[in-house]
Amino acid sequence: MSAEKSALSTPIVIGNWKMYKGISEAESFVKDLLDQLPNPSITVGLAVPFTLIRPVALQLKSSSVLTGAQNMHEASEGAYTGEIAASMIQDAGASFVILGHSERRRYFHETNQQINLKVKKAISSNLYAVLCIGETWDERQEGKTEDVLRKQILEGLEGVDISPYLLVAYEPLWAIGTGVTALPEAIQSVVAFCQSQFIQLFGESGSAIPLLYGGSVKPENCEELLAIPAVSGLLIGGASLTVDSLAKIIEIASVARKSSE
Ligand code: PEP
Repeated sequence: MSAEKSALSTPIVIGNWKMYKGISEAESFVKDLLDQLPNPSITVGLAVPFTLIRPVALQLKSSSVLTGAQNMHEASEGAYTGEIAASMIQDAGASFVILGHSERRRYFHETNQQINLKVKKAISSNLYAVLCIGETWDERQEGKTEDVLRKQILEGLEGVDISPYLLVAYEPLWAIGTGVTALPEAIQSVVAFCQSQFIQLFGESGSAIPLLYGGSVKPENCEELLAIPAVSGLLIGGASLTVDSLAKIIEIASVARKSSE
């Protein structure tokens, strides 16, 4: 796998719809989003439930907005009832997948080892893999943030070659869905630590891995989050469920890009 830079232009704004929306609701969302922003100048992705990949991807076909999944199995195919393969989500129209989200780790007991296999499978399938990492509030209070992230990075990326298909999202668990955003200074030191881990693993090309921040991102705070050096984009849960707030974040991110050029 080459060490070339990610083909995705930054900032990258990814909405994670989690287990929300049926087909008609998703279709009217996408229609409204495209009416407001037919072709965003930055990378925008919607990580949707499996049942929505096909309809959303069809609607987004002539736009630059990417469709993604929120999980997948690491095997190519097999007797794994209830699971879905990388090739299946690609076939349905997904070009990226979120892996190791804290809700997968917490409610479905996904381990770093399982997530590592998924990351390898996604990358070797030319699917963009967004590996999620983050510490709990207790871990932060106990001064264990770096230890937790180091373990998630080393184990999650064990044996992974540097690839333009690899992205990482730092999402402190205490900021997800809580309305509490981490302070920019705190995020800056954590993302700098993550980058130092990438460089240890992959050499200097590790610094090109796009690093997203996630955790209660909204239109009101996205500008200062995007201004943090080394933050290449945002992973957004709640605020990606309404067109107006997602469109606002995309607009602010597009301006942030122009002013940094
Ligand atoms: C997420 O689910 O990845 C997330 C960041 O959620 P929220 O934006 O709602 O905190």
